[in-house]
Amino acid sequence: MSKRTLETPAAGQVSALDIDALRRRYAEERDKRLRPDGTDQYVQTKGEFGYFVEDPYARPVERAPIERTVQALVVGGGFGGILSALQLKKAGLEDILIVEKGGGFGGTWYWNRYPGLACDMKSYVYLPLLEEVGYVPPRNYASGQEIREHAERLVDHFGLRDLGLFQTEVTELRWLEEEALWLASTVQGDRIKAKYVLTATGSFSRPKLPGIAGIDRYKGHTFHSSRWDYGYTGGGPEGGLVGLKGKRVAIIGTGATAIQVVPHLAETAEHLYVVQRTPSGVDVREEKPTDPDWIAALGPGWQKRLIENFTALTSGMGADEDLIQDGWTFLFTRIGALGASSSDNKGGANSLEALLLAAEYADAEKMNEIRTRVDGIVGDRATAERLKPWYRRFCKRPVFHDGYLETFNRENVTLVDTDGKGVDAITEDAVVVNGQAYPVDCIIFASGFEIGADTVVRNGFRIVGRDGLDLAAKWQAQGISTFQGMMMHGFPNLFIHQTAQGALAANFCHGLDEMSRHMGYVVERTEAAGAKVVEATAEAEAAWVGQCGAVSGIAMDFLKTCTPGYYNAEGQINPEAMKGYGFGLGPIVLFQIIRGWRDEGGLKGLALRGGETLGPARA
Ligand code: NDP
Repeated sequence: MSKRTLETPAAGQVSALDIDALRRRYAEERDKRLRPDGTDQYVQTKGEFGYFVEDPYARPVERAPIERTVQALVVGGGFGGILSALQLKKAGLEDILIVEKGGGFGGTWYWNRYPGLACDMKSYVYLPLLEEVGYVPPRNYASGQEIREHAERLVDHFGLRDLGLFQTEVTELRWLEEEALWLASTVQGDRIKAKYVLTATGSFSRPKLPGIAGIDRYKGHTFHSSRWDYGYTGGGPEGGLVGLKGKRVAIIGTGATAIQVVPHLAETAEHLYVVQRTPSGVDVREEKPTDPDWIAALGPGWQKRLIENFTALTSGMGADEDLIQDGWTFLFTRIGALGASSSDNKGGANSLEALLLAAEYADAEKMNEIRTRVDGIVGDRATAERLKPWYRRFCKRPVFHDGYLETFNRENVTLVDTDGKGVDAITEDAVVVNGQAYPVDCIIFASGFEIGADTVVRNGFRIVGRDGLDLAAKWQAQGISTFQGMMMHGFPNLFIHQTAQGALAANFCHGLDEMSRHMGYVVERTEAAGAKVVEATAEAEAAWVGQCGAVSGIAMDFLKTCTPGYYNAEGQINPEAMKGYGFGLGPIVLFQIIRGWRDEGGLKGLALRGGETLGPARA
């Protein structure tokens, strides 16, 4: 196949893209980044590197260990924990405890406070329950601070403030069969028993460091982007990092975080070295104030419509209209248009082959646009070339920024491109790349987080169910196995927010909201039945796993062609290990299925013990 053409239906333009040449280039760029150590290349932030995850925002509080029994324990005070706690309240529970490692609510938005932090999904879809709390974001994109304030708004609106137990880290959850309770142990020595436990520990909660030779030898100042040291840099989330005046700074990593940070570092540092292994694809962002007429015209229920439209489009379901019109939805809308007009579309507009080809063309168009954008902004030709991403759009987290590329036109900024190899070494006072030492006063690691099936299993603590069954061991032995992505046989009264076999939506908050409502229903029905225990049956779990496993091949094939990153386990994605990982029909279908399941009014696939028969469902 070479130089196929596709006509766009709207404008009638012809896009001639040499897909074969692109595939070759993408494969070359991927291959030169593949490393045998895969995800093991990273260093965990514990032991001698434990200081990288200390909380810079709250003073440690000394307190006596707690012994307490509650109706429900929520682990994690981010959006997942907050949305779940409010559903538990709605289900009629009063005695709820939210245990949180940080010093306050917000989860990822508690920890990440770096300068420039913002969400690049539109605020109207990302921020949960806007209509319920009567808040309309003033702008199309919310800053990190606004998002954290929204988390606090939800906490106050739903009366959750007093439920928080902060600076408390769970070490183990253990099911006590005789008491039909969970026992949570913590670093602080607490012993908290609970009838129900929900874990909402987040996907980006464990920062990681690159395993660069000599990383432990550096004598200058250093920190991870998710624990921003304003004591050193000065300034705040809006910038003004006056502490960096006269300082030579290196930032390692050029992912979604670094893109937002770099312009602020460049403003004050004497010299900034942006150390790049793989460039991000930086698309236009276009911040705007909210148009109140637009919201008014959408009418009541506007947020649900927008959220569902966004998830439908970004999960490839398609939708009659694009109500979002941003850099996320554009590509999918374009795929739909190209799929419908493809000259290769012999099997009809929706044939799989036509859609996959259309997706590749739409992607190629978008990536060409992104690469051309670099040329239009960055003055130095060699630097511009190095900033161009050579992979498909969703191989890495799509990134949007209107000031990042411009930073490389500044005299005090150097792009240190490692050509896919990464940093050679770190010495006592320098970062070494391609044999050249760059002496710096400060190294900032924007090197991301531990993500993937391993993290899901580890969860940061052990979960031991009935008969001493360890969840991590169970999943390692037989693969990830859940009922509806949230409950597990052998782990009664336990609900976990995670993405495997469940809600994997680009908009995480959408998944958290839907699954929290679902959990609330199960708890409410269990309470209504007066039961002590609710547990997925082995049969229901096996059926769910089977349903998930059948349809994930396309995503696997795509990820294998991608440049390494956390989306594809650093290029070592293993289809066998990942079998049944995702809910292949996508989040919209998942949400329809679980809503339909609830509409039946029962608890099909779950077994109740120690209670009465199930009465009618709550209206
Ligand atoms: P990422 O994992 O996306 O990026 C880590 C960066 O570190 C990559 O550029 C990686 O390069 C680089 N790196 C790793 N090892 C080395 C090495 N040895 N030498 C040089 N560079 C190295 O982490 P982020 O914190 O940027 O983002 C994590 C996630 O958080 C995002 O994907 C997104 O989901 C979320 N996020 C969302 C934001 C938003 O809404 N705008 C903002 C920030 C984060 P390579 O690519 O080659 O691996």
